[in-house]
Amino acid sequence: MLTDAGFMDTTSKPSWPRPTDDWVLAQRPAKPLNDPWKPGGWLVEKEPLPDGSIVEIGTLFLTNRECPFRCVMCDLWKYTVNDRVPDGAIPHQIAEGLRHLRPLRHLKLYNAGSFFDAQAIPTRDLPVIADLVANHERVIVECHPRLVDRRCVEFSKRLKGRLEIAVGLETCHPEALARLNKRMTLEDFCRATDFIHAHGLGLRVFVLSTLPFLTRQENLDWAWKSIEFAFEHGAEIVTVIPTRSGNGAMDRLQSQGHFMPPRLADLERILVQSLPQQRGIVLLDVWDLSRFVDCPNCGPARINRLHQMNLSQRVEPPIVCGCQHDAGELPS
Ligand code: SF4
Ligand SMILES: [Zn+2]
Repeated sequence: MLTDAGFMDTTSKPSWPRPTDDWVLAQRPAKPLNDPWKPGGWLVEKEPLPDGSIVEIGTLFLTNRECPFRCVMCDLWKYTVNDRVPDGAIPHQIAEGLRHLRPLRHLKLYNAGSFFDAQAIPTRDLPVIADLVANHERVIVECHPRLVDRRCVEFSKRLKGRLEIAVGLETCHPEALARLNKRMTLEDFCRATDFIHAHGLGLRVFVLSTLPFLTRQENLDWAWKSIEFAFEHGAEIVTVIPTRSGNGAMDRLQSQGHFMPPRLADLERILVQSLPQQRGIVLLDVWDLSRFVDCPNCGPARINRLHQMNLSQRVEPPIVCGCQHDAGELPS
């Protein structure tokens, strides 16, 4: 059935709208022009290792053809081009990016889509790219679980170090996952993680906070469950991604009352609950956290605490403020 809002409604939660590809595309603002011969950017950040040491990781943001999936929460299409890039363009971007980064042992190649999508990273370029980054101790790439296959193994064999695959679980709530329009089931996720383990590759998993359609308390509960689910399926690192509006679709859902961005207090609660479990490394994506600040007095100190918790992997002393952000009240 097609609801008034133009969503196709086919899952077991009939009161929840189900965004389609066409609906997601129709909400988008214009896409910026990007150059297929230039990386979108590069940065160096710190991350903990399982032994407690802190390492610097370089990240190259690659420019390539837009991802064929149309996830409702995705804004990565803003950094892509419409057509498949010419052979040689991605190695050219990587070579340029590496010139800007000082020599580092750990490198993320993040491409606003799936690294093993042949329309994003031309297959013929994969061996060239592997040779460019072969001397790194760890190389991390992102991939949609349905595109995890033999190509990951062939790419990893050309590296001297370890290949880590970063996959988006987003949530283990089956109905909410279906409504993200990611075209992935939990079975797809498990098949990908089994494959990654069977071939000795590293696994990093992304979990979203918050999801559309859920209440605030449901969002907290399902973020915790999803982190546990990721560790049960062999994740070594789980990164919690705060869901942003600004891509058109999320703004529309927000205006219709189907989505509330996370508050800083929610992100704090997720880390505070997850870190003591010590199932693996739990990170919060700290990019642009100031947009989630819920109190101007204590917000900057609490953001700093979240940075510290990412590195120390333990719960740091709370920040006290008259706003009682940590009072535990959760109006939905
Ligand atoms: S699979 Fe990843 S890159 Fe593709 S639309 Fe979904 S979130 Fe965006
Ligand atoms: Zn405060």
